[in-house]
Order: sequence, then C-alpha cells, then structure tokens
Amino acid sequence: MQTFSDIPRYYTCAIPSCTQPAIRCRRCAVCKKHRCARHEARRYHYCPSDGEISDEDWNKRIADEVADILAKLNIPALLDLAQSLNDNKLCVFEPGQYSPPSASIMGGTNYHAWLIFEDGERWLLRTPRVGLDLVPPDVFEYIVTSEYATLKFLETTSIPAPRAFSFGLSSDPANKLGIDYLLIQALPGRPYKRGDATLGQSNHVLEQIADMMIKLSQLPFSAAGSLITSSEGNTKIGPVSSNRFIHLYPSGPHNSPTDYFADTARQYLDLIADGQLHERCPVEAYLFYSLLLSRSEELSPKAGAATDMDALHSRFFLKHVDDKDDHLLVDDDHNITGIIDWQSARIVPAIEAFGPSILTSDLDRLVSGKGGLTQDDRKLADALRSRGHEGLAQCVEVGDLVRTFMFGPDADSSPAQARAFLGNMLPRLGIHAKVDQWIQEQQELFKKTEKGRKVLSKIQELLDLQKE
Ligand SMILES: [Zn+2]
Ligand SMILES: [Zn+2]
Repeated sequence: MQTFSDIPRYYTCAIPSCTQPAIRCRRCAVCKKHRCARHEARRYHYCPSDGEISDEDWNKRIADEVADILAKLNIPALLDLAQSLNDNKLCVFEPGQYSPPSASIMGGTNYHAWLIFEDGERWLLRTPRVGLDLVPPDVFEYIVTSEYATLKFLETTSIPAPRAFSFGLSSDPANKLGIDYLLIQALPGRPYKRGDATLGQSNHVLEQIADMMIKLSQLPFSAAGSLITSSEGNTKIGPVSSNRFIHLYPSGPHNSPTDYFADTARQYLDLIADGQLHERCPVEAYLFYSLLLSRSEELSPKAGAATDMDALHSRFFLKHVDDKDDHLLVDDDHNITGIIDWQSARIVPAIEAFGPSILTSDLDRLVSGKGGLTQDDRKLADALRSRGHEGLAQCVEVGDLVRTFMFGPDADSSPAQARAFLGNMLPRLGIHAKVDQWIQEQQELFKKTEKGRKVLSKIQELLDLQKE
C-alpha cells in the first residue's frame, strides 16, 4: 500500500484551511465545490442535494453548462476541420438537444452536437462534460485519446461502431477547437430498450451479441489496458482508461489477469482508506475490495475442458465498459445498427470480456450483491455454445462473480446498504458466517499486522471526522 500522502487525488477539499482529499466524482452542482468526507456532511454543506432541486433549476443548470461549452467551442474552426476531412463538402453545426429528456443526446459524461453535411451525411461532435468538473482534465484527456484509438481499432473489424474522423485535446496548442473532442460518424438506428422488447426481439439481439463476442474473441491482445495510438500512428495497449464510474486513474498495462484484478482492488482500497470513495461505508467497502484482492488469482480460470479455454485465458480482449441496452442502436427489426459510447473501453481478461454483462443482468440483483445468472445470461451462453464456442459460453456461466466485483457497491451506499451488499456476497464466495460476525472477525485480523492497524486507524479517523 502507498502511504496516504502518495495516493493521487482528483481534487483537494475546497474549504479554506482543509487539506483533506475531496471525495471523487462528487462536486456539488450548486456551490460548485469539491469537499472532503467531513465537509460533505450536512453540518458543513447546506446546498440542496440533486433530489431536492426543481426541474426548472436542473434545466437551467444544464443550459448554462451547454452555453459554456458553446462559448469555448470555435465553431468556424470546427466547420473547417470537418469539411477538410470530408472531401470539402459543406456542413452546418447544430447544437444537440438536451431537453426535454426524451430528446436528449446529452450523456452522463459527454455532450453531443451535430454536423450536417450538404448531402445529408451526419457526424457527431462528442465532448466530455468538463463543466461538471467531476474528473481532472488529464484523466478526461486520456479517456478521449483512448476512445479515439478504440474506435480506429474497431474500424478494422466488422463490429458496428462509429467511424472516428478526428480528436483533439484542450491542452494541445495545435487544437483550434478550444475543447476536448471526438468527431465521429452518427450511426442509424435508435437506442435498444430491453424492457420494451418482445421475447423474439430480445432473443434476436442476444443472438447478434453472441456473434459479436465471437468476432472480438478472434482479436486477442497480450496485456490488459486500454488502446492508444502510438506516435507512429499504430494502435497499442496503454494504461487502463479508468473504469465505468471514472473512479480510477489510468494504470497498467497489466500482463496477467491476476495483476489486472489486483490493481483494481488496490486502487479502491487506497482510495477508501484515504476518504476519496465510499466515505459513508469505509469498513464494508474496504472489506469488499479486500475480498477482490484475495480472490484476484482464482477469478480467472487457467484452463478448462473446452479446447479453446487455454487460448482464451492466456489472452486479453476488448470490452465495452458500459455494455447496457441503450448503447446498442437497432433498426425496426431489432437488427443492431451500431454500438456506441466506447468511453473507457478496456482490454480485459476473457472472463470479464465474455462474462455476463450489464445488458443481460438483473440490475436489482447486481446492485444488491446477490448476483446469479439470469435467463438472458443463459440464452447468451446457449447461443455461443450452439455456434461452437464452448469456452465463451463457459465465461458467461462462470463470470458472474467478476461482473459483481467490477460493478461493486454503490459509492453513495449507506453503511446498512453496504453491509447488506457484503452479506449477499459472502455465501457466493463460500463464506457462511453472518455478515456482522464476519466483519468483526476481519477487523480482529487487521489488528494483528502493522499495515492492518494503520488502515483501521485511518478508517476510524475518517468515521470520527464525519461525526464531528
Ligand atoms: Zn454545495
Ligand atoms: Zn474538508
């Protein structure tokens, strides 16, 4: 473990004289400040929470954020660039609609606007919502750089992803647009809604996902990480580009599945002990990621009965980090026309790449730590097996623990919610103790080592500060 002073922070608490790290990804949208665990408490922070803000204020806040982006964006330079990249066809700029929500193309972390060419061709300008100020600029720049490299890689495959035409970083003096951006192809189709699909439509989508998983399984990599473009213009593996929640700094690449899972666990353990994540439930969250660390070797099967298992489990594969239904675009017949939003895509061990996804999950069970394979997980496994890919089918069938570990307990969990999550995890790991008793025993074990005592005292300090 690093000493606590070495743990990188996204931001420092904005309260004058406080030197504590701010909670990651939790800037207050009203006072626009990052606060530490102590100063985030109601006694020190009086702003209304997101749930207490009126729709009118919410819409105004988003309108202001978009106005800021548009004020920074050099639109003539954008039009020049797009036209030069597309045979000098004329194009116009159309800001993306963000309200009402049904028409929104504002994502959780990205704003989108249209470029419409004279022949009707449409591109998207995709730019991180830096106005939310959730993540430091260097992390966002790496995410944009890696998303571009991922899309360029996907262009060489038959996976239906948007073509990428250009990208730029705001720190680059040669970037005339003034913002971080990607210029990408707008794909046809509408977002797939799993809850609205008929059984036949849902099965048709799963069959196509099985075909795409097979294609990705034929494109192995030698390490875990995220794609970047080398100075010679080749695609190569760089550090892992954060995670689904943008909680982590880029790290790696990692040469083994164990190193990759252990690195995720170690980063979370440091951040929890340092008060940067899970500040309301540090004991439970720390123990959850200790379980991930202790199981990081056994999570990835070494080999199996299936002939393709050895090849699978010694290699790494591209994974869409937020593989949920509305990132699939479909036509009227539920043919997949595109897979969008490859932000933070990663090259990961087979057990995660082809393990059960968010798309086929029961979200209530996933967020409560209960897990278990769903009917859709099993259908996907059957589809892979019927196509002759036993190894991939087995990844779906045994990868449920990895799905839960990489999703984790919610960062805003109360101690009771986090304890329930942990209680649901224990029997899945063969631990049949009552959760309260198990937590007690683990704390006793921590007291036996110097490192453990240091962690316990740091966590206690964090809990005491929140009571003051
Ligand atoms: Zn505030
Ligand atoms: Zn503070």
